Amino acid sequence: KIEGQITADDVDQLTEHFPLCMRHLHNKLQENKHLKHYGRMQYNLFLKGIGLSVEEALRFWRTAFSKLNDDKFQKSYAYNIRHNYGMEGKRTDYAPLNCMKIITNNQPGEGDHHGCPFRHFSEDNLSRTLYNAGVTDKAQIRQILEYAKGHHYNIACTRFFELTRGSGSKEQGMMAAINHPNEFFEKSYQLSQE
Ligand code: SF4
Repeated sequence: KIEGQITADDVDQLTEHFPLCMRHLHNKLQENKHLKHYGRMQYNLFLKGIGLSVEEALRFWRTAFSKLNDDKFQKSYAYNIRHNYGMEGKRTDYAPLNCMKIITNNQPGEGDHHGCPFRHFSEDNLSRTLYNAGVTDKAQIRQILEYAKGHHYNIACTRFFELTRGSGSKEQGMMAAINHPNEFFEKSYQLSQE
């Protein structure tokens, strides 16, 4: 977690440190003012992991779901957000999902945006996403696509990190494979502070 408390207003600015799965959820949330159940769960637990308190998470989602009136938001969504924080039901304090769970559980269907882009995006969509995220070299895009095709999703994600984050990490194989979206975030954030 980042030192001190991060607020709902900080999230937009921090997306540059997010892995592609979370950037995708963030972008779709901004675009549609809505995310379906598993998308909300994946993203909310991640945000909890980067240090958003439950109050700030509720504020973040309330603002993002701008088309809803407050009554509908409180009735249909606030419970689940608090639930993720262990404030409702069995009061389990849920951990942010790791890559393995995101890749293998609850396969995304039509209109869903959760999951892992390296696993769930088409080749075209993944190439475009990589390009837009700063991997503009065709050979490098091809290499990442090959990893994804070979089911080496975490290696593809780690390579993406190496190519787009701090200058010290451009060499392939210099870092251990990323297995958790919050690990991606923390490493990227730390590099930006060095
Ligand atoms: Fe997210 Fe993990 Fe996929 Fe990377 S490998 S995009 S962190 S789920």
